[in-house]
Amino acid sequence: MNYHQYYSVDVVNGSGTRCTLFVSGCLHQCRGCYNQNTWRVDSGQPFTLVMENQIIADLKDQRIKRQGLSLSGGDPLHPHNVPAILQLVKRVKEECPDKDIWLWTGYVLNELNDIQQEVISYIHVLVDGKFEQALYNPTLIWRGSHNQVIHYLR
Ligand code: SF4
Repeated sequence: MNYHQYYSVDVVNGSGTRCTLFVSGCLHQCRGCYNQNTWRVDSGQPFTLVMENQIIADLKDQRIKRQGLSLSGGDPLHPHNVPAILQLVKRVKEECPDKDIWLWTGYVLNELNDIQQEVISYIHVLVDGKFEQALYNPTLIWRGSHNQVIHYLR
């Protein structure tokens, strides 16, 4: 898996102060996508074990308390990304059990395959669905268009 951006302190993508990772790779090609440079899986830079360890360390850091981790992109549930994302969310649950995980995907919750659903079993808040330009509303929080749904899963 590759990624484009990592913010160790972020207050925009989800509730509270968070760590946020924007991964590479998206198949949805939504018209009006604000992040087209993330579509290719080989764009950005490799997501290494060093980076994974950094995220865990940031979540554990007591000096700046984070509520959790946000995963966006690109699409964290792109088939190419699912193994690395699954490994990351398992580590967060095991090593940072008090942190929540939010995930944004262009897929729809009830259409996910088995391994995508396994990832979702670790996710607290899922924002799903493609970005639909005709349903765009800038006043929406944490989503861009009305068709997208915020699922509070656990
Ligand atoms: S799912 Fe997100 S990143 Fe992918 S094309 Fe749609 S808006 Fe862009």
